[in-house]
Amino acid sequence: MIPGADEYDVAVAIDEAEVERLLDASPDDVAAADELSFSRNVFVPLTTACRYTCTYCTYYDPPGQAELMTPDEVRETCRRGADAGCTEALFTFGDDPDDRYDGIYEQLADLGHDSIHSYLREACEIALAEGLLPHANPGDQTREQMAEVADVNASMGVMLETTADVRAHGGPRAKSPGQRLNTLDVAGELGVPFTTGILVGVGEDWRDRAESVLAIRAMHERHGHVQEVIVQPVVENERWDGGSPDLETMRRVTAMARVGLPSEVSVQVPPNLAPARDLTDCGIDDLGGVSPVTVDHINPEYEWPALQELRAVADSAGVPLRERLPVYERYVDEEWCSDRIRAAIDADDAAGERYRAVLERGENPVQP
Ligand code: SF4
Repeated sequence: MIPGADEYDVAVAIDEAEVERLLDASPDDVAAADELSFSRNVFVPLTTACRYTCTYCTYYDPPGQAELMTPDEVRETCRRGADAGCTEALFTFGDDPDDRYDGIYEQLADLGHDSIHSYLREACEIALAEGLLPHANPGDQTREQMAEVADVNASMGVMLETTADVRAHGGPRAKSPGQRLNTLDVAGELGVPFTTGILVGVGEDWRDRAESVLAIRAMHERHGHVQEVIVQPVVENERWDGGSPDLETMRRVTAMARVGLPSEVSVQVPPNLAPARDLTDCGIDDLGGVSPVTVDHINPEYEWPALQELRAVADSAGVPLRERLPVYERYVDEEWCSDRIRAAIDADDAAGERYRAVLERGENPVQP
């Protein structure tokens, strides 16, 4: 039983024979993808407040130090991204700030909001107005929270990380695998195209990795909404000295994900954290997002260094690199896209043209 699954009434059946099959999976069992995709995004770290204290995480700031971007800062960041040719506003978050973060709530109140989700909605509206499609990743969400922002997001996400209870999530405020799975389930019920992933090296064992992949697959089989699964290694930083998984581990776990997931679900590794060039034969077909992070990168005549890196990964694999939107093409339809997002993609303006150009390039991947 997945810890916390009972509490959130989110049972998933894990087939023991499938666990054994995944435990046997290796890179020899998968084929390399015939193209690699990526998205041009701009990071919008709406808040660094988080109710949890994962021991490997440098993203969150404690109460008193956590920040909330102002609407002007959101607008300026989105504008910079749109000017640089991005299509995605990636709203990064800590998890729903708890009541220790009274400064954040005072700031929210000053902005006319009583919750971070209410403010997220405003921020997504700003992104859409500036010509970017929002993809928000606000951690665990209740049905009510997600419903408040679903129609202004092209897709959303949360890392499942692992179905195991690990010490790295421990302490007085530990996140629950059951609650994460519940967020995946809620996204499916609300028809939100979704990104999730597993975190490798935080104390889980091989069986936990196999069960995590199978739990994601079960959610996708229930709702059809999982567009991609990130296989992310934990990395050393000022809060984490527990090491990072070695290449052999990453190759095996990436192949495990490819073997365990339906073919339409992309397997992604983040090239800034994982040795992507050494994983292209393990079944990955997506490299995530690249972001213009300095002023120099705003000039669209010059390729961002991060984009050059992605192209080098694709070249080393001998496959084309294809740009995609934050919502995968198969979800750009009436069933999955809200009227709001479809209107943005269909709009007769510069942003709409940019979105449609990316979709059209998807049909001709040799011309990225
Ligand atoms: S929930 Fe996410 S942001 Fe919060 S501490 Fe854990 S990893 Fe960091």
